[in-house]
Amino acid sequence: MKKDIQVFDNVLQLIGNTPLIKLNKITADYKGEFYAKVEAFNPGHSSKDRIALHIIEEAERQGILNPGDTIVETTSGNTGFSIAMVSIIKGYKCILAVSSKSSPDKIDMLKSMGAQVYVCPAHVSADDPRSYYEVAKRLHEETKGSIYINQYFNQLNIDAHYNSTGPEIWQQTEGQITHLVAASGTGGTISGTAKYLKEQNPNIKIIGVDAYGSVLKKYHETREFDHDEIYPYRIEGLGKNLIPTATDFDMIDEFVKVTDEESAHTAREISRTEGLFVGYTSGAAMQAIKQLQEEGEFKAGDQVVVIFPDHGSRYMSKIYNDKWMEEQGFFDSKKVGTLESIQY
Ligand code: PMP
Repeated sequence: MKKDIQVFDNVLQLIGNTPLIKLNKITADYKGEFYAKVEAFNPGHSSKDRIALHIIEEAERQGILNPGDTIVETTSGNTGFSIAMVSIIKGYKCILAVSSKSSPDKIDMLKSMGAQVYVCPAHVSADDPRSYYEVAKRLHEETKGSIYINQYFNQLNIDAHYNSTGPEIWQQTEGQITHLVAASGTGGTISGTAKYLKEQNPNIKIIGVDAYGSVLKKYHETREFDHDEIYPYRIEGLGKNLIPTATDFDMIDEFVKVTDEESAHTAREISRTEGLFVGYTSGAAMQAIKQLQEEGEFKAGDQVVVIFPDHGSRYMSKIYNDKWMEEQGFFDSKKVGTLESIQY
């Protein structure tokens, strides 16, 4: 084997060390420099590879996960895909309980990666025995030699980013980072990354991105759970209707809320202007930067890092589909940005 060509033992060795890529066009008129941490470069195409690997390897170190055991989680999204990928390489069974709201594409994707998928009714309460939370819990209890990842309530989710995403960004910016902007779902990414960065320089400003319809921003400001904040919205992976313990609210200086519509358009704009085909929450994080720029948050010399959590290919039937955009009314106020093809 030639020494100058990198060869890997397996796909897991490619997790982490994602590139930091300068944004050149979308922020051309802004003060400061803007860099994207592009997590789609992980082999499972999202930041969730980091937590899947870390949580599974920690369970191995503690001796609670042994060859042939089972890993259980409730997710139809990126975390499920990453757990399935890690399970294949390490020889575990992977059980995912998903909601019947999940698109058939997503369920097929998880099955393609060898996961056993339980599709549970969407419109039942979280404590109903048929809900995907309850089904996952039961499968975990009934399956000898299984672990439950429980990403919203697992401290190891924070630790994964404290150990990897944080140090990578510190090194890649040579300690010059002034702002971190990141979408918050479980909160693991922003909390772990922020903890590491604030230990290096407490003046780095940490900005979380939340959805309208989610309780995170209000909870951050009041430390009270306000049911009135909760209503349905479309962005997946952003915000929440509960308070995850994987979010360390003390690490976050400010939350910015963004709309479904503007986040979708901004994701499409990133793809068109920077050549980076990104997911919906990348659009949300960039949309937050736009709003902060309008408020005069940034100044010359600032180095702003924004996390782009996943790849656009996961959203072909949503934000990159004009019919879906039209159905949501996302072209009503903004007639621009349709994806025309030429009939030949
Ligand atoms: N973007 C996407 C697409 C996600 O799936 C998630 C995770 N739910 C996030 C952002 C937020 O990351 P975290 O859970 O670490 O807060």
